[in-house]
Amino acid sequence: MAIEDRLRLVFYRVDPEPHIRVNADACPACPDGPCTFCCPAECFQRDGDRIRFLHDGCLECGTCLLVCAPGAITWTYPRGGCGVAYRFS
Ligand code: SF4
Ligand code: SF4
Repeated sequence: MAIEDRLRLVFYRVDPEPHIRVNADACPACPDGPCTFCCPAECFQRDGDRIRFLHDGCLECGTCLLVCAPGAITWTYPRGGCGVAYRFS
């Protein structure tokens, strides 16, 4: 099964309180913006020198926290009962 087909099977219960926060003030000084191409769920989108972030489809992989060298990301898991539920691995 292709990865795109597997991702379509992922179930989310979106926490209205974002579990990831981005200090967007740091983003203009980060021209490569690795979060925009490392996030498998495409939660980060570049808008000029700013970054737009939506946590809705987050797969909780932690990649954005690892690649954000300026430390602009505050990362926690969603609150209990919320977040991603994987099916078929
Ligand atoms: S990697 Fe971090 S600092 Fe760079 S654009 Fe993304 S969120 Fe902003
Ligand atoms: S934890 Fe993974 S899926 Fe969620 S926003 Fe970060 S890189 Fe994207």
